[in-house]
Amino acid sequence: MESQGYWGGFEEISKYNVQLNYFERLWMAWYAYMQNDILATGIMSFAMHELVYFGRSLPWVIIDMIPWFNRYKIQQDKKPTAYEQWQCAALVLFSHFTVELPQIWLFHPMCQYVGLSTSVPFPSLFTMAFQISVFFVLEDAWHYWTHRAMHWGPLYRGIHKIHHQYSAPFGLAAEYASPIEVMVLGFGTVGVPFLWCAITKDLHILTMYLWIVFRLFQAIDAHSGYEFPWSLHHFLPFWAGAEHHDVHHERFIGNYASSFRWWDFCLDTEAGPEASKRRREKKIAKAKKAV
Ligand SMILES: [Zn+2]
Ligand SMILES: [Zn+2]
Repeated sequence: MESQGYWGGFEEISKYNVQLNYFERLWMAWYAYMQNDILATGIMSFAMHELVYFGRSLPWVIIDMIPWFNRYKIQQDKKPTAYEQWQCAALVLFSHFTVELPQIWLFHPMCQYVGLSTSVPFPSLFTMAFQISVFFVLEDAWHYWTHRAMHWGPLYRGIHKIHHQYSAPFGLAAEYASPIEVMVLGFGTVGVPFLWCAITKDLHILTMYLWIVFRLFQAIDAHSGYEFPWSLHHFLPFWAGAEHHDVHHERFIGNYASSFRWWDFCLDTEAGPEASKRRREKKIAKAKKAV
């Protein structure tokens, strides 16, 4: 197979696996070409993460350079400079290569341990959509509590402070954080699907990839610093988005959840002047009742 190269192998596989779709054949050819499942999964995961992270951040870098978009910037007086963005990207890249790259060797064995499927055919769209929705809800809960804990004095000073270096965030700053924080909060993104698979024995690595892509989009967009009339939370009122997380960076307190607004709403940890006003009024009303 190796002598034929990747595309030679792909053609060979296509001849004998007509029941598989194009992407399934590409997938199968990749594993056949690599002849090493650990590296095949590891390299694919790492490359996907880099591509999606920087690919999704780039439009925000460009938008920051176009003055017309300033009308949609949430903290209009705090625009990141090109130098700041570059510095941030360099640190994120550095941590990807030092902390994350060595973990390539762990990913496939972990998938095998919990029973994640890496084979073809792929699961149905319905199965993937259902599992990804569950992951969104569970990750959000994990994120809410661990992120809220990170704002406790010692944890904040020791770990989380790095992420709060930018009081007006931008896309690239989504993963600008201590490696410990990346691991703790990252458990919600990677550990939740592993746990799901350990219990249900039903998860394909492609579903996991798609979930991670959506989660990266969510995290980068939440840090973008822009709020548009067409932002998702206008159509899905419980979706958090940039408007929600930007205030967290600005005020350092409240709005701890990642994807949804329900935890902060129900536990009264919403950030911003309106929420504080509501809390103040509640307190006064309570005090009056007590008298
Ligand atoms: Zn925080
Ligand atoms: Zn943040």
